[in-house]
Amino acid sequence: MRVFEDTYRHKGMRKQLVDSIKTKGITDERVLQAMLHIPRHFFMDSAFDKIAYEDRAFPIAENQTISQPYTVAYQTQLLELKPFEKVLEIGTGSAYQACVLAEMGAQVFSIERQKNLFDHNKAFPFLKRYPNIKFFYGDGYEGLPTFAPFDKVIVTAAAPYVPPKLIEQLKTGGKMVIPVGDSKVQRMLRITKQQGNAVEEEEFDNFSFVPMVGGRNS
Ligand code: SAH
Repeated sequence: MRVFEDTYRHKGMRKQLVDSIKTKGITDERVLQAMLHIPRHFFMDSAFDKIAYEDRAFPIAENQTISQPYTVAYQTQLLELKPFEKVLEIGTGSAYQACVLAEMGAQVFSIERQKNLFDHNKAFPFLKRYPNIKFFYGDGYEGLPTFAPFDKVIVTAAAPYVPPKLIEQLKTGGKMVIPVGDSKVQRMLRITKQQGNAVEEEEFDNFSFVPMVGGRNS
């Protein structure tokens, strides 16, 4: 069984990573503090231990990725999270992003379509620290109608369009942060829901995510 250790060396590398993200323009202290607390190297294969604190994405199982730390910080900052808010995350992946949200005091509902990744997270001991995250195996295009409405929605896979059901499941005044585009490049959007299902849309930088795919994968 894998032993998870967070040594002084890891903590030092993590501090440097967080400092570099700050230099790249992330100003929300709560985001930076959360990232300072979470041992990112726990979320990837031990083969990546020495490079886990580089600011880049890494492969995890099922051809998926753990997002680049800067991207995690960027999306989280755009969410303007307040403690105890209900957040729906699409694309659990490694569960790193879910932990950042949980560390900031959110109540997190995270959906993953890959059964293996979902099962892996059920057996991942570190996640026991966050009883405020609930994991679901399902299709993010459907959202989680049973638990709606949400204060915030964060999509961590490349969406070809803004899924209408996710807008429906936002509270009025709620916000969704979602990368929208083709398979190569996506524009980060922040959607704020108005009365009814009308939305206000803001555009931010370009990113490159793995695709948001419809349906579940056993
Ligand atoms: N938030 C993750 C990033 C994972 S990459 C992290 O912190 O590591 C994106 C993830 O979205 C992949 O695991 C992929 O399987 C998942 N995904 C893609 N389409 C999906 C969908 N329709 N519903 C739920 N998850 C989806």
